[in-house]
Amino acid sequence: MSNVNKIIDSVRQQGRTVLTEIEAKQVCSEAGISTTETRLASSQKEAVALGEKIGFPVVLKVASPDITHKTDAGGVKVGLKNKAEVRQAYREIMASVRPEYPGAKIDGVSVQGMARPGIEIIIGMFQDPQFGPVIMFGLGGIFVEVLKDVSFRIIPIVRRDAAEMIAEIKGYTLLQGYRGHEPAHIPSLEDMLLKVSDFVERTSGIKEIDLNPVFAYKDSAVAVDARMVLEKKGS
Ligand code: ADP
Ligand code: MG
Repeated sequence: MSNVNKIIDSVRQQGRTVLTEIEAKQVCSEAGISTTETRLASSQKEAVALGEKIGFPVVLKVASPDITHKTDAGGVKVGLKNKAEVRQAYREIMASVRPEYPGAKIDGVSVQGMARPGIEIIIGMFQDPQFGPVIMFGLGGIFVEVLKDVSFRIIPIVRRDAAEMIAEIKGYTLLQGYRGHEPAHIPSLEDMLLKVSDFVERTSGIKEIDLNPVFAYKDSAVAVDARMVLEKKGS
């Protein structure tokens, strides 16, 4: 059985349809989608050890199958520069998440390297009742939430579709570099769209994917957060 199928099977066996960030990123990397390598720490001590292993600065996020909007729960701490900061972040995450989600199963925290800042992109996928699987591309933050500056295509797509999706958003000029910011590497973004499309085409039962945000750089792109939802069995 492929690693992807193993992960999906184990999620289903636990009666879940939502993958954790760590599971979703594992599936992404199997599918050739670049993500920040992310590991689970089930205690404060493990978080510190992983921080040292990965190399500071690191990011800690609450790891729970019941919590998908991690920031809203006070569950994300970025830019942790040393062991003391990791210890404190661990305490703060637990102190803030537990009262917000009293019933949640908390596995611990995910630990990953701090990615350098880039242009924030969102790549998504969802099932449309009429068209089937649809892929989405947009700029992160207010561009998606307020301006709804996004493009869509029905899966599967080819490279030309990916190029058009990227070029047709209003924020395209931002991707070409503005006010001294580095431009985004468009071929890397096309690759990521194609990888998502290919993965969804050959994997049955994927309901939703959210790579939010993807950081785009002048020579590459990396997803720093990933969310994936499976179709309910039998649907
Ligand atoms: P949420 O569940 O709230 O969407 P995210 O994992 O997206 O949580 O983290 C919230 C924000 O923290 C991201 O939008 C991003 O700006 C920042 N962030 C998350 N992971 C990293 C990382 N590895 N490196 C740098 N910044 C990060
Ligand atoms: Mg996110």
